[in-house]
Amino acid sequence: MKPLATTVRPERPETNVVAPSDFCCLCGWKGTWKGAEEARRDSQVCGGCSASLRYRNQAAAILAQLGRGRYATLRDLVKSEHVRANSRVYEVALHGPFIKYFSKFAHYTRSYLWPNVRLGDTHKGVACQDITQLTFESDSFDLVISSDVLEHVEDYPAAMREIFRVLRPGGAHVLSVPIVWPMPEKTIRRVELVDGELVHRLEPRFHKAGDGTPSLVYTDFGFDILDLLQEIGYDAWYERPSLMRWPGYFDALLVCRKPRAAAQPRPAQKITAKAANKPSGKKSKAKN
Ligand SMILES: [Zn+2]
Repeated sequence: MKPLATTVRPERPETNVVAPSDFCCLCGWKGTWKGAEEARRDSQVCGGCSASLRYRNQAAAILAQLGRGRYATLRDLVKSEHVRANSRVYEVALHGPFIKYFSKFAHYTRSYLWPNVRLGDTHKGVACQDITQLTFESDSFDLVISSDVLEHVEDYPAAMREIFRVLRPGGAHVLSVPIVWPMPEKTIRRVELVDGELVHRLEPRFHKAGDGTPSLVYTDFGFDILDLLQEIGYDAWYERPSLMRWPGYFDALLVCRKPRAAAQPRPAQKITAKAANKPSGKKSKAKN
């Protein structure tokens, strides 16, 4: 076992700035972001596809995982017939800027949880799924995407386990959750279920859900979430795609990879000095 993630203390940021104009890694648009003066994860909106900074950060991680660094934008990634035909993608989303790209894939499933629809049924083209008890078969997806979802799931460890189960070995879950910098060491449960009742440990906080209704925030994630992910079996890390270009910007996202089954390395071919010098074939024999 590697040392636990909590033994590493993240640094305290002094600035939180990004470039006011740039290149969008979803659609390829170039220009000045809307809300460029604010370096927040939901600001810096692309004039081409409306993706905010957090979605662009997430797209950068998706390109690294699914495109293995070959493509600069999602627009370019989906031009690849091979990627479109062979990558199985599941996104936990009713809306969002990734749908128009991944809906071109042969295997793209997205889901939302409606209380009155049976789990596994499709409603308006979207699967009804509870991410703590997915109806998908194991080893089904190369990529799972969730954007600011996990903080709204009471039993997030169960969700992380379920997503591990449905990922193919070598596949990854690329997820965003709101990160407060400096990143706290410990994950805080804002609300807990005690005997079936919600008990608020902190002032209730709500975000707007995909269908526009308020959704309760159960958890503020900290650095120690990596310990849980490691325990489940993931190779997981916080990633900051902005870091290289905008060292002063401190949003982060999580990449959780299901390891490939450990394969035995091929034995190295034994080449002895004698064998290496031995002439082979008629040509070299004739030469000698
Ligand atoms: Zn864009």
